[in-house]
Amino acid sequence: MSTSHEPTPGMEKHPLFHPPEETLRNAHVQDYVKVYQESIDDPAGFWGRIATELEWFTPWTSVLDWDPQTYTGRWFPGGTTNISHNALDRHVAKGYGNKVALIWSGDSGEERVITYSQLLDSVERLCHGLHSLGLEKGDRVSIFLPPTPEQVISMLACARMGLIHSVVFSGFSEAALKSRMEDAQPKLLITADAGFRRGKEIPLLQTARAARTGILSIRNTLVVRRKDPRFPVDASSGEKAFDELLEKNRKKGSFPPAPMGADDPLFILYTSGTTGKPKGIVHVQPGYMVGTYLTTRWVFDIRDSDVYFCVADPGWITGHSYIVYGPLLNRTTVLMAEGAPDWPDPGRWWKLIEKYRVTVFYSTPTAVRLQMRHGEKWPSGHDLSSLRLLGSVGEPINPEAWMWFRNVTGGRLPIMDTWWQTETGMHMITPLPATPLVPGSATKPFPGVEVDIVDKNGNPVPDGESGLVVIKKPWPAMFRTVFKDPDRYRQYWTEIPGMYFSGDSARRDSSGFYHLIGRIDDVIKVAGHRLGTAEVESALVSHPAVAEAAVIGKPDSLKGESLKAFVILRQGKKPETEEELSSLRKDIRHHVREELGAIAQPDEIEITDWLPKTRSGKIMRRVLRARELGLPEGDTSTLED
Ligand code: ATP
Ligand code: MG
Repeated sequence: MSTSHEPTPGMEKHPLFHPPEETLRNAHVQDYVKVYQESIDDPAGFWGRIATELEWFTPWTSVLDWDPQTYTGRWFPGGTTNISHNALDRHVAKGYGNKVALIWSGDSGEERVITYSQLLDSVERLCHGLHSLGLEKGDRVSIFLPPTPEQVISMLACARMGLIHSVVFSGFSEAALKSRMEDAQPKLLITADAGFRRGKEIPLLQTARAARTGILSIRNTLVVRRKDPRFPVDASSGEKAFDELLEKNRKKGSFPPAPMGADDPLFILYTSGTTGKPKGIVHVQPGYMVGTYLTTRWVFDIRDSDVYFCVADPGWITGHSYIVYGPLLNRTTVLMAEGAPDWPDPGRWWKLIEKYRVTVFYSTPTAVRLQMRHGEKWPSGHDLSSLRLLGSVGEPINPEAWMWFRNVTGGRLPIMDTWWQTETGMHMITPLPATPLVPGSATKPFPGVEVDIVDKNGNPVPDGESGLVVIKKPWPAMFRTVFKDPDRYRQYWTEIPGMYFSGDSARRDSSGFYHLIGRIDDVIKVAGHRLGTAEVESALVSHPAVAEAAVIGKPDSLKGESLKAFVILRQGKKPETEEELSSLRKDIRHHVREELGAIAQPDEIEITDWLPKTRSGKIMRRVLRARELGLPEGDTSTLED
């Protein structure tokens, strides 16, 4: 871990973009500077005021109880609440029972629409069912389901009873599911007879049955009959049909939500595994609730008329915080799509936006680059005029992709480039709809969040220089621990004494805008210069022939490291002859030199059709590097095949 004192070339040339008049007029936060300052001057007052917008069974005695010895932040101690009560009952009691909570679009175009009352009813019936299976507060439940309403119902039912859910992305293999369940030791596994993607059936139950063998903690498997409503479950091994359990509990009435205090976990979620073995991140109810409630409200400027579409899968933190909990806490209508963005054709998401009059569209850089590869004709074939706000998460979004996203959606919509992590639970560095934007920058910290860029001793680095991203004060949605690994938790706080170290590096420019460079592991040192992979990739992708790029460092006796770029070309840009190929390579190198300087020119460029990515769409450079150098690949359980 180290930092650079070399200003990074080629960054600050992009203009500021200001929000449209309509956005300014309606924004929840009009004056960011003032709100931010107040939140930092009096964090307890700030977060306490926000928390009172939600309902509590018993009031808290203080806002934060911070233990600097164990790095434990107990938010709203003394208070009890329940996130499912706040996401469901609270709205129904206020007369919003008939408002649509979920619109679900299935892989082959099926549609389901579920109101807040209906969602509450299903959740309560499932709670009665889970109770009858003997589940109690603190028990773990692994959820291995495709993105369907049953996934959301299962999460909320667990939350209501104080069960700790551990959602595992449904695209995972038997081994990946098994290792996560071996760690979480669930009493119950919820899965489906099958999932669907690109019209193909995914045999989830088969995977689940194989993965659960030998995990003795599991007593029952609940099976959602997604494909075949008459599928015969295997009662002898403790399998039960999800729909039958709900049916049996139709008349049981309400199920009281468990009072959840400052130490009561909501879920365990394993990180993406981009940099190594996934970590079982534990979040607790009250703080996570307040953090996701407010960030959703302010970052997306939630209004009652919104139709909100987030393309993540609830199997990742983005889905937890910004499909399920944050939006439902804000009484939002959430559109949830199963399947792939480019199936049956690359217009899938644009078509959904048109059909459901989506207002807020939260996507990822990898999805935007995929759309770029397919070309503008797909978005331009649809009426996207309902949109008022865009979002991006997961990786740095390169300015080229940022501009493309903006341009194909009408050329005026603000893009919320949100930087955060499974560990942080909520957005940490992000624009707000009324703040100015710089393409490729996540802009500034969210109110109540104190961020800095420091060197490895914790000293702030001057603006313009790259360094390590740290959070200097506890925040409500902070993770409580790493499941069964308190040492790993401590490591986050001790690597740089007294601060939370994110593992990412960034620069803050002279206007206070943050530019995320990438993970510290992804910083490459060429002839004494430190280059962020994201910057070089960004320069590559701004070449008209390049759709996606990944850059790694290779040991070089002369320069320390040399740069190798793996490049996917845009549709129709593939050279036909060797000569064309070599001239394209030259042209790309030249382009990077123009953008970033000679030092950043890749020494090698390999044209490829595929890049190793996590299931959540992040480029796994460590896998590319290992393959290139013939080294062991490490944990690849999250690698997409
Ligand atoms: P692991 O910790 O297992 O390696 P991961 O870090 O990819 O996996 P997540 O918690 O899903 O797991 O991702 C958080 C990381 O994603 C951040 O640390 C950062 O590197 C990256 N990231 C997320 N959003 C942004 C963004 N808007 N800009 C830049 N980077 C981002
Ligand atoms: Mg991480």
